[in-house]
Amino acid sequence: MTKILVVGIAGRMGKTIAECIGDTEGVELGGGTERAGSDFINQDIGEVAGIGKKGIAVVDDPALALEHCDVAIDFTTPASSMFTLNSAAESGKPVVVGTTGFSPDQKKEIANIGKKIPLVVAPNMSIGVNVLFKLVADAARVLGDDYDVEIVEAHHKFKKDAPSGTAVRISEIVADSLGRDLEQVGVYGRKGLAERTPKEIGVHTVRAGDIIGEHRVLFGGMGENFEIFHRAQSRQTFARGSIRAAQWILDKPKGIYDMQDVLGLK
Ligand code: NAD
Repeated sequence: MTKILVVGIAGRMGKTIAECIGDTEGVELGGGTERAGSDFINQDIGEVAGIGKKGIAVVDDPALALEHCDVAIDFTTPASSMFTLNSAAESGKPVVVGTTGFSPDQKKEIANIGKKIPLVVAPNMSIGVNVLFKLVADAARVLGDDYDVEIVEAHHKFKKDAPSGTAVRISEIVADSLGRDLEQVGVYGRKGLAERTPKEIGVHTVRAGDIIGEHRVLFGGMGENFEIFHRAQSRQTFARGSIRAAQWILDKPKGIYDMQDVLGLK
């Protein structure tokens, strides 16, 4: 039985992951952490996640919790995930990271940690979104420069980073497929005199209520619009994807993988 550590177990994703571990064969909840100073420290991990007592206390030290687990899943904050990754690098245990909003420097540090341990890092662990990534790459290549690309993402009002990690990834895929430099052509919202230039990739953010996650990729041509749309209806889609990644990574050599690797979409 694979024991999974859930980092940030009191969070929206942490609780959902703990719940989904409970009905997935071959895995069990082996530990949970929360931020130092949180009221959840020393409470029972199962009670914090709302799935019944497990007899294991929430701690704030991922290194300590990893001693009793085979793999960690971390959906927290960039700073917290860097702490988890550095702790895991010491123990050699693999980590699945779903957190978004890493800075360029943090991404470089993650690449270095990937030289020491196996990691799955993905801004969106849902299977549908990973299929969308593949479809967007194909569509951009076929439609080419004649179609204007606009990406619109919507999330709940509590989301910290914008645009979403998924929208960032989609814009990178479109730019790569069309041979464009995203730094030059990425346009994030518009106001005032803002006529579209031909190679722009527009990225737009909506934040409202409890929207779990929506991504629309519009290819606008003369005489037709072509759209690819994904809506997450429950956080379970991300949670189940992350558990699948945790099972997949157990026997992999050190390195950085993404959900395309996990799902065999490469
Ligand atoms: P949330 O705020 O509900 O939960 C984050 C949890 O992490 C909180 O309970 C917080 O106390 C805890 N935390 C903070 N610092 C910590 C530390 N040092 N150690 C342990 N725990 C710590 O947020 P959420 O909605 O669950 O999202 C978390 C992250 O996951 C965000 O970056 C979000 O964008 C990302 N996300 C990714 C996917 C995906 O598929 N990759 C899907 C949904 C959300």
